[in-house]
Amino acid sequence: MTDLYRLLPEEMEKMVIDMGYDRYRANQILMPLYCKFPKSIADIKQLPKEMIAELVDAGYTIGSAKEVHKITSDDGDTTKVLLNLTNDKSVETVLMQYKPEKVGGLPRSTVCVSTQIGCAMGCIFCATGQMGFETNLKAEHIISQVIHFEEIIEQRKEHITNLVFMGMGEPMANYDEMIRAVKILTDPRGFGLGQRHITISTIGIKAGIERLAEENLQIGLAISLLAPNNELRKKLVPTATSDSVEEIIEAGHNYFKKTGRRVTFEYVLMDGVNDSREIANELAELLRGNGSHVNLIPINPTAGDFERPSKSRVFEFKRILSGAGVNCTIRIEKGTEISAACGQLRTDIVG
Ligand code: SAH
Ligand code: SF4
Repeated sequence: MTDLYRLLPEEMEKMVIDMGYDRYRANQILMPLYCKFPKSIADIKQLPKEMIAELVDAGYTIGSAKEVHKITSDDGDTTKVLLNLTNDKSVETVLMQYKPEKVGGLPRSTVCVSTQIGCAMGCIFCATGQMGFETNLKAEHIISQVIHFEEIIEQRKEHITNLVFMGMGEPMANYDEMIRAVKILTDPRGFGLGQRHITISTIGIKAGIERLAEENLQIGLAISLLAPNNELRKKLVPTATSDSVEEIIEAGHNYFKKTGRRVTFEYVLMDGVNDSREIANELAELLRGNGSHVNLIPINPTAGDFERPSKSRVFEFKRILSGAGVNCTIRIEKGTEISAACGQLRTDIVG
């Protein structure tokens, strides 16, 4: 069985030609796939009946996600769904909407996709990490999370504008399927999202960052740094033994040099763990003068013991970084009350 959502446009063309049909038939599949969301091949009315039958006989399918559960934040801007995928596994995906800047404009609609069910990295502050690793998602499963929300918001004439790979899992640990999904989602004949509207967040797998830099894509990169030294980082990310803080930062800079895209270092702030003045100074020393951008994320509650630092401590941390000339922002909280925020996604508890 092959899900048609798995195919790059050029692969779709090859398939059509190999079956003895004209090249333009590929577009007759691609257009409805990404605009009309057919649920079966028979729903693609432009195709001749015999072609539909041949595709079905050859084992092609159209997969879609089934919504098992949905929860929306009080302000209505964040929606978290539990989706049942065609691999019969459930995954959490989040839609975050931001009010339009202009009156009458459309909202920014960002989907936060998952690339794995669970995660093998085992970060001790992250709900997904604490779940352990279950499985890698295929490209079509990543794409179906996006299509699911596009189909919903398209009914109110809105569209997905941005995509962040910040849901469950480590994208670089499922590189081939992740990049296949990115290529299909950004192809003008696929979902057609601008490359610059996608950000991949990684715990800092150097080999993955280097590979991504070679893709010739304009994808944004975020690296979860979490600590300015290896000793502390290893406590927080137990599996991060091979790539040092220095190597990860260097990989980030090389990514910037190669792609021209500024890299963001994400830093989850945990009370009494990585939020002291000394640590802020150490981080500032490490990053000063090289154009880095730091995004501070006051920790969102998970089952673990970690607490969010006080507001004044968060601002103090920011002040130290900014004072050293390190560009720094504090992430706006979205969806914490529905456990839809960073690091809160897991599939064994719903709600
Ligand atoms: N595996 C990737 C992407 C998914 S996690 C990564 O680690 O980057 C996405 C972001 O959520 C990361 O920056 C991670 O550090 C952050 N995160 C994890 N647990 C969190 C928590 N409890 N509160 C706030 N952010 C968290
Ligand atoms: Fe995995 Fe990222 Fe969570 Fe770490 S923070 S366990 S890498 S999802």
